[in-house]
Amino acid sequence: MVSRKKVLVIEDERPIAEPLADALRREGFDVHIAATAAEGLEAFSAQAPDIVLLDVMLPDGDGRDVLRQIRQASRTPVVMVSARGEEMDRVLGLELGADDYVTKPFSAAELVARMRAVLRRITAEPAGASGGVLASGDVAMNLDTRLVTHDGKAVELTVKEFELLRVLLESAGRLVKRDDLVSEVWDPNWFGSTKTLDVHVSSLRKKLGDDPASPRYIHTVRGVGFRFSSADELQP
Ligand code: CA
Repeated sequence: MVSRKKVLVIEDERPIAEPLADALRREGFDVHIAATAAEGLEAFSAQAPDIVLLDVMLPDGDGRDVLRQIRQASRTPVVMVSARGEEMDRVLGLELGADDYVTKPFSAAELVARMRAVLRRITAEPAGASGGVLASGDVAMNLDTRLVTHDGKAVELTVKEFELLRVLLESAGRLVKRDDLVSEVWDPNWFGSTKTLDVHVSSLRKKLGDDPASPRYIHTVRGVGFRFSSADELQP
């Protein structure tokens, strides 16, 4: 029997949290609800959930601060939930390392589907990945352990950054079109495609210490796509 996935729902509005928790339990998740930022962080350390649903507006703080604190210690997937629909909020949430983002009102079915997609991306065995290591120059990723290293040092990536790097490294030395990256890393009907892709490329570059003005690793082909340097290009 597959162990039940633990979901931590950090949401102060009971009319939202409770029906959602019921729907998640029916889907086989173990659910814990926290109604404040402080309670949420405490439950996060105490319970080590598999995934977190995090409301942006909490009575004692901003969900994005909660996300920042979670990301200091962990790559546990986080889906942000917000009543605000502005693009800036989406982008900021994703820059901080959220794995997905839904705006109220949403249906429980939609949210469960998104959570499953996020969890699938984490647990999915990449094709042909047994013992698989992808590398170009001094950037390497182990597809089994999900360890990513740059110059021998571990690099912490979010789920999406990991997938983005995987697709780029699989095609190291070759151009990968924006559309192909979006459909490989996000669902094909992901709402924020273009801006979201750029945000993730930018955060991946930052984590690899890459200078967008003169990139060593990720080259931009404006309006077309991105190319990760080949092993030859990266020779010292
Ligand atoms: Ca709220």
